[in-house]
Amino acid sequence: MLSIEENIKIIKERVDRSAKKSGRAAGEITIIAASKTENTARIAEAAKAGIRDFGENRVQEYLQKRDVLGDTVNWHIIGPLQSNKVRYVLEGIRLIHSLDRLSLAQEIEKQCEKKGTRVDALVQVNIAKEKTKSGVYEEDLGILLEELSVMRNIRVKGLMAMPPPLRAGDNRRYFVRAYELFSRFRGLQPDFEYLSMGMSDDFEAAIEEGSNMVRIGTAVFGARSK
Ligand SMILES: *Cc1c(COP(=O)(O)O)cnc(C)c1O
Repeated sequence: MLSIEENIKIIKERVDRSAKKSGRAAGEITIIAASKTENTARIAEAAKAGIRDFGENRVQEYLQKRDVLGDTVNWHIIGPLQSNKVRYVLEGIRLIHSLDRLSLAQEIEKQCEKKGTRVDALVQVNIAKEKTKSGVYEEDLGILLEELSVMRNIRVKGLMAMPPPLRAGDNRRYFVRAYELFSRFRGLQPDFEYLSMGMSDDFEAAIEEGSNMVRIGTAVFGARSK
């Protein structure tokens, strides 16, 4: 088994290669280590090996890790977010990747107002319309973005998508579709900058199709124990 440091070195080389293939520089792709279930010592190890951004799924877990590591790294919320947890995550979050409904946005707006803070978020798109996944359907994306555009405390920085596994079929088209949506709305949205898609098993294809933010867990840390 390779060390976290060795894993990261290999991932960076693969990201570099995919970026070049799609006519971009490696520096244009943000690597987020999906660190759910990993302890702070292992996160610190990844940080030492050059990862600056970490994605957490659970609010409670994020808060505990943030208590230890503070602002030495950038924190992202990448998993589904319940409205009643919003108040705990607004401070110290670089990006929420899972903004997927108006009611959640309204709660974020309200809590930001109370705290006098602002937050950056990506709208999660359920690109393959999977019943088990969250995210707005593409036909509802325009309306949601319009509703978000009047919220003073939320900056919409782009889109997040999590298509079904590549090897399960002809699923590369979902990356293509997500990039089409991203490109279309980038023309209309002043702050659009990031397309967050690609995980351990498919980040190269995702980058080749236009992703500029990948969320990688097992390829960094090894298989999760649960
Ligand atoms: C866990 C997780 C990832 C990373 O998955 P791996 O297959 O371990 O790379 C990416 N995105 C989200 C939302 C996740 O929950």
